[in-house]
Amino acid sequence: MSDRPDPSPAPGAPVAPSERAVPSPGAEQRASRRAWLDGELVPFDALRVHVLSHSLARGSLVFDYMAVSHACARGPAIFRLADHVERFVNSCALVGLPLAQDAAALELACTLAVRANPDATVVKLNAYLPSLEVDVVPADDRVSVAALAYHPERDILTHKNPPPAPPPAVAKLCVEKQHRQRRPDIMHPHAKVSANYSGAVRAKWNARKSGFDDILLLDEAGRLAESPTANLFLVDESGALNTPPVEAVLPGVTRRSILALAEAEGIPARQGDLYPEQLFAASEAFLTGTGVGVWPISEVDGRPVGAACPGPLTRRLRRRFLEVKAGKAPEFLHWLHFVDA
Ligand code: PMP
Repeated sequence: MSDRPDPSPAPGAPVAPSERAVPSPGAEQRASRRAWLDGELVPFDALRVHVLSHSLARGSLVFDYMAVSHACARGPAIFRLADHVERFVNSCALVGLPLAQDAAALELACTLAVRANPDATVVKLNAYLPSLEVDVVPADDRVSVAALAYHPERDILTHKNPPPAPPPAVAKLCVEKQHRQRRPDIMHPHAKVSANYSGAVRAKWNARKSGFDDILLLDEAGRLAESPTANLFLVDESGALNTPPVEAVLPGVTRRSILALAEAEGIPARQGDLYPEQLFAASEAFLTGTGVGVWPISEVDGRPVGAACPGPLTRRLRRRFLEVKAGKAPEFLHWLHFVDA
């Protein structure tokens, strides 16, 4: 028997970045960053998986994406951490990933990742099967968990050549015409798993090539669902908010926050079916998401939406949402998870 050490790293173990690896612009900027991986802080760029790993080859990586607020004197705070972790655990269950950690351990992982990277503006929590696999059913189903706290602009986007332009203040959208993407009978929209984004990648990429900022995806009956990474709201002529039912879309944490803020402000809100024609009867429309915040929609398929963009209700809810995230609303301070003990 050979006594040479086994050269293959344990599944999920950090791999030293090699000169032969894919070029990684921005590596210098990220050199001081640490990511939480299966209980340890490791160099950020050492987080690698093989191209034959189940997570990459079969699209089984589950993730969640949270904002970190820096507006409070008490230090950095993760916005609605417990709600994001709950959604993450549910996504893992829908995909069948056997997680070793409970919600408390996952919240701690995110907290430690931000503590180690105190300038981070986002945290991404991931669960994946790093093992090299042959079949769709993994022979090794050990799940790795990684929490990465970072600054997307500084760490990634500014190192692109050319750096992508920031999103415009108001969004010009189109409606997906070729496919009906949000299909709970194929993959539940509540599963935040990488495979669930592959149709959206193609749809939004085509939309961008045609000059649109984003795209609205439909469900199997042709009803409005959501954009690839944000939920949809319309304001009707009575001044009420309307959004597709939660069963048909990813249960967005921003969506839930906007519904709670509307309730607190006495603004009527309805969750129910919406059809593309209703976009043009709406007095205002906006998208919500961790990445885009409250993003006013100015036109769809080249036709204007509402009289003015952003409309008054969109402005009001956006202002209120930003105040809450900045810790300026005592009644919603419990939505902020301060990472410093
Ligand atoms: N829908 C989809 C499909 C998404 O990926 C996201 C982004 N997580 C959203 C909606 C918005 O969710 P949240 O407000 O939690 O970011």
